[in-house]
Amino acid sequence: MRLFDFHCDTLYKATTTNGSLLHNDYHISIEKANRLEQWLQVMAVWIPDEIRGQAAFDFVSKCADNLRQQLSQAECNVYNPLNFNELVRSQHRKNIILAVEGGAALNGDIRNVKKLKDIGVQLLTLTWNGKNELGDGVGVINPKGLTNFGREAVAELERNKIVIDISHASEPLFWDVAQIAARPFVATHSNSRTVCNHKRNLTDDQFKYMVSIKGIVGLNFCYYFLKDNGMADINDLLKHTEHFLSLGGEKTICIGSDFDGAAMPNGITGIHSMEKIYDYFLRHNYNEQLLKDIFFNNGYKFCENFDN
Ligand SMILES: [Zn+2]
Repeated sequence: MRLFDFHCDTLYKATTTNGSLLHNDYHISIEKANRLEQWLQVMAVWIPDEIRGQAAFDFVSKCADNLRQQLSQAECNVYNPLNFNELVRSQHRKNIILAVEGGAALNGDIRNVKKLKDIGVQLLTLTWNGKNELGDGVGVINPKGLTNFGREAVAELERNKIVIDISHASEPLFWDVAQIAARPFVATHSNSRTVCNHKRNLTDDQFKYMVSIKGIVGLNFCYYFLKDNGMADINDLLKHTEHFLSLGGEKTICIGSDFDGAAMPNGITGIHSMEKIYDYFLRHNYNEQLLKDIFFNNGYKFCENFDN
């Protein structure tokens, strides 16, 4: 099968624990992805709310260096695209896309947008749960939307062709971005709030807005975001998918596993579980074309269109 996964924390984990991206006991390794026909994996550098200032930008550089260094030792077709056009042209089977989860990485300096692009960052999640120079995340009480710097950053990110990710954004911030963004944006790892009432999940209005702008929304496997109480399983993932489909999401839904960054539901233990999830959906009357769209094509087409 072909997989395009828009969010994991494997690079963060490997960098902070001196671990290997190639062989490890994490949810994802380059080696474990060998079984996939084609693999595009967004690896995010998470900026915890305690890291601010220059330290945030420096941490991204450190992770980017670690990614490049480890991939240079990989005896497999790992490809680190400098832009989405290159990615689309790439015939390589396995591709890592560098992302940053937390606009604090900009250190409040607009010139850092271009610097992030220069070190290969292709997506930026504007906030994590807390507050940063761009605005408020979902964890802020009585949140506000974008700051003046946040508005400036949205325009500059678009100018530099860095995809804006609104997973973790507070509702006011989401709607501020919706008002000023000129390009489609994404929610890399967010589920449906109607199915699981967690503030990390999207409301129906937000999801319908994502459909209307031809954005994409990645299904998150973290069990807290799948089910209101208790342990979740693959069937809960199906419920979110069903609901998004009922809102017209067949070209919008993609995968945003949150591997190596979140507590997994029963039956999902890492990238090697992807075929099992695919088969589970097949057995529940999903046609193969729809599944191929969700697991790969929707994300791929988003990238293709984004760079045009
Ligand atoms: Zn996250």
